[in-house]
Amino acid sequence: MTFTSPDIPGHEGLAAPVLPTGELASTSSAFVKVFVGYQAVCSCGWTDQRRFPATQEGAKEAEYRWWSRHAAPLIAAAPPSELVARSNLLCERVVKLAAERPLAALTLLSQMESWQRALLDLAVAGARDAGASWAQVGEAMGISKQSAHERFRSRDL
Ligand SMILES: [Zn+2]
Repeated sequence: MTFTSPDIPGHEGLAAPVLPTGELASTSSAFVKVFVGYQAVCSCGWTDQRRFPATQEGAKEAEYRWWSRHAAPLIAAAPPSELVARSNLLCERVVKLAAERPLAALTLLSQMESWQRALLDLAVAGARDAGASWAQVGEAMGISKQSAHERFRSRDL
């Protein structure tokens, strides 16, 4: 049995059976005859370092490790998929508007820019207040730690 969350597509968790050789099986224990433990893995390549006993409780602990150590931090940093879909749709519509009625697109984009800047400041301040580093802020925005710091440090007082 694997585990997923719609907010982090591309991440499928598994309590992987540990084979007697020490290697991890890529399927659930239902398809493995002999195994000596469980270890949490993800389809993205992430592997937990901790090994749990080859019991039902061990499997549950490995599943929880995928959730607590890998999925939960990713979900916390990922925008909700519903908002990503709406944002992509908005972008497509504005591209179309810019082609058909460029002045209307300019008015709309100027309005969006004014609230986008204010919301960006708000989100950066919230992340910093919650203890996020400049590296984390930069990573979330797809820019370097230095760029994030230079751009927002005046608001970090
Ligand atoms: Zn993953």
